[in-house]
Amino acid sequence: MDKPLTADIGFIGLGANLGSPVTTLTSALSHIAALTDVELIASSSFYDSVPMGPSEQPNYINAICKISTTLDGLSLLKQLQYIEQTHGRIRNGEHWGPRTLDLDLLLLGQQQYHTNELTLPHYGMQGREFVLVPMFELQPDLIMPDNASIAKWVSECDVSQLRRIQMT
Ligand code: ATP
Ligand code: CA
Ligand code: CA
Repeated sequence: MDKPLTADIGFIGLGANLGSPVTTLTSALSHIAALTDVELIASSSFYDSVPMGPSEQPNYINAICKISTTLDGLSLLKQLQYIEQTHGRIRNGEHWGPRTLDLDLLLLGQQQYHTNELTLPHYGMQGREFVLVPMFELQPDLIMPDNASIAKWVSECDVSQLRRIQMT
């Protein structure tokens, strides 16, 4: 008998600040839901956030989604990068520059992975209010693989410039 495949719970961060970010994030969520071997469990509210890095760029719209998947991290990342490309992402080497769509794989079960191509958990979660607040919205009792608690990280970050978007 085939060994049953175990699914991992994953969290993906979505961000956009060029084009029509709300439309792009909505479309990206549909594309994630349509991936083979990926089940979309829930998505957060959308948030308006000030950009990191170069300040001469529009505000971002950010969200988080929670998935269940049997894919390994690298295969999932490749699928996410393909979705970025199909939504007009151009990689010009500018770090944290403006983009039509950014999809970061934040967590995949308890996996810890350290290569340039993929780091799990994503290295930049702590201190990024536009990641932590929507993640807390989806799972307030979340504990990271290194035992850090999302509730503690949320309580420590600056949310003064983060705005939850009311969808009509
Ligand atoms: P940041 O990673 O600080 O949020 P960014 O999203 O702007 O910055 P990108 O230019 O989108 O960075 O990605 C740079 C590289 O990061 C990609 O080529 C990708 O292989 C690598 N990477 C490493 N770990 C991850 C991860 N967990 N999720 C997405 N990309 C990752
Ligand atoms: Ca990012
Ligand atoms: Ca990225």
